[in-house]
Amino acid sequence: MNYQSKEDFLSHVKNKFPNENEFHQAVEEVVGSIWDTIQKNKNFIDGNILDRIVTPERVIIFRVPWLDDNGNVHVNIGYRIQFNSAIGPYKGGLRFHPSVNLGILKFLAFEQIFKNSLTGLSMGGGKGGSDFDPKGKSDNEIMKFCQSFMTELSKHIGHNSDVPAGDIGVGGREIGYMFGQYKRIKNEFTGVLTGKKTDWGGSLIRPEATGYGAVYFVEEMLKTRNESISGKVATISGSGNVAQFACEKLIHLGAKPVTLSDSSGYILDSEGITLEKLEFVKELKEKRSARISEYAKKYNVEFFEGKTPWEVKCDIALPCATQNELNDKDAQILTSNGCFVVAEGANMPSTTEAVQHFIKEKILFGPGKAANAGGVAVSGIEMSQNSTRMPLTSEEVDNLLKGIMTRIHATCVQYGNKGDFINYVDGANIGGFVRVAGSMIDQGIV
Ligand code: NDP
Repeated sequence: MNYQSKEDFLSHVKNKFPNENEFHQAVEEVVGSIWDTIQKNKNFIDGNILDRIVTPERVIIFRVPWLDDNGNVHVNIGYRIQFNSAIGPYKGGLRFHPSVNLGILKFLAFEQIFKNSLTGLSMGGGKGGSDFDPKGKSDNEIMKFCQSFMTELSKHIGHNSDVPAGDIGVGGREIGYMFGQYKRIKNEFTGVLTGKKTDWGGSLIRPEATGYGAVYFVEEMLKTRNESISGKVATISGSGNVAQFACEKLIHLGAKPVTLSDSSGYILDSEGITLEKLEFVKELKEKRSARISEYAKKYNVEFFEGKTPWEVKCDIALPCATQNELNDKDAQILTSNGCFVVAEGANMPSTTEAVQHFIKEKILFGPGKAANAGGVAVSGIEMSQNSTRMPLTSEEVDNLLKGIMTRIHATCVQYGNKGDFINYVDGANIGGFVRVAGSMIDQGIV
């Protein structure tokens, strides 16, 4: 089975899966990169690999009823997308956010297939979550929601089949409540979730891993131009898990991060965010409803309501909040202000047009599936520590993380080297794809 052109295939995907805009966007990007690789490989064409790789193996959608503190009954929708298990058990986070829908989770699960492949570990692609909004909920309400969510999800996951983790709105607290409920239902203590606290099976460096890994990836990109992080000015969006630890590692390596944000706006601290100020942000964001504008009040810096930080002059930009938070206009402002490194801590934060602009300008652009793979990489390392029941030290995990980010960078260079510049989008997509597609062919029509 072959399609006449990329466009032909994309219109087939849009007809087959209507109204899933983010999923179409993610497919378009990947197919744009892997098209030539597929055309050159008869096995991929005869095996209809394209159609199979964009179709999830399984999608589970379920009702999540829960009682609030006043005794009112609420109902949210729960999802788990088990997209591709060719190279390992499904692996990917759970997102709790009111914007969650099937199209968003399918884009995230689809990206996850290639990201997990790039890590070199044995993990397939999955993602899940709910349209539940944790903001403003009491601790008790969060627990009740997590227990109800896991009561159904527990029927579909397991340490050898599907191992979820956190994502937006799901951190150590939520993982704890879900792990407790899983254990209660199944009566087994296994590594069924990652992102656990270290006292009960979690890995050191897992909270730090996505942000640290993104900065290690930036270091590798900079080396290709004989540059280093030290002394560079960086803008960061978001102020959650990924943003906080990207900021921390930038400070460790001598850069000057100047912005953080949330859905209400961004703060600009021209003096540079320090470790002490970052500690304040971490404490602030423990409460999910707290706003980053508190930082501006405390440290007497400016807060730009309703805006994103891409108008601020910088060398390095790290979008670490959410999908499509950086558009083509932002991309143009960034590069015209001298920004020459963009690494996506978040998943698909740059729109298609923004990505095209970065590639046209030949800047160092690290797409999410490569740059933010450190989180899932350490989740994979958490799974292996759970299997062996032998915890590693922080230093050991951090060294493994660095090694994996360096190898992902090398894979991107191998598949994305265009002579005068490295197209990391092609590099990551092709590098991630060939392993999964080859494994699917090996395993027959399943
Ligand atoms: P958190 O929930 O810890 O933080 C999310 C941050 O992004 C908050 O500052 C939040 O602000 C902001 N945000 C969320 N939605 C929006 C929106 N619609 N508009 C503007 N800002 C928004 O999540 P994480 O830090 O874990 O995740 C951030 C990104 O990184 C996501 O794209 C996620 O998929 C990706 N990622 C995360 C990994 C991980 O290990 N955690 C691994 C790989 C990728 P507010 O509080 O106002 O909502």
